[in-house]
Amino acid sequence: MFKWLTKEQKNELNQLPIFKNVEYFDIQVGWFEEIKKIGLEIQEYCDKNNNPYPEITQIKTKFGEIRVSYKNSNLINFNNFFEKINQNCEYCGSIKNVDIIIRDRCVLNLCEEHKEKNDVEFKTLLYKN
Ligand SMILES: [Zn+2]
Repeated sequence: MFKWLTKEQKNELNQLPIFKNVEYFDIQVGWFEEIKKIGLEIQEYCDKNNNPYPEITQIKTKFGEIRVSYKNSNLINFNNFFEKINQNCEYCGSIKNVDIIIRDRCVLNLCEEHKEKNDVEFKTLLYKN
């Protein structure tokens, strides 16, 4: 059930100027495409408004929600750009009936398909990582 970003995916994200200083992408693959889109959106916003890019150091999921750490506490709050990703399943990216659920003491953001998985399978996959 847990599928963290691959090295290749992390490298790809680090290619974007906005993510070049990010040391940790502790998110699952379901958020990969979306986080890329959000990065481009923020860059575009900053370019348009002549605003320096926020210095992001860490992007992770905690309690089923995205957490972003910045080095410079920027003038603008960029969290609202990121927070919409909470509507996507962490595992597959779907937006179908996504809920935050608690399973085996883990808090996850999952779509209708992935939150229906039974606990045994979930546990097995959980401990693989
Ligand atoms: Zn899903």
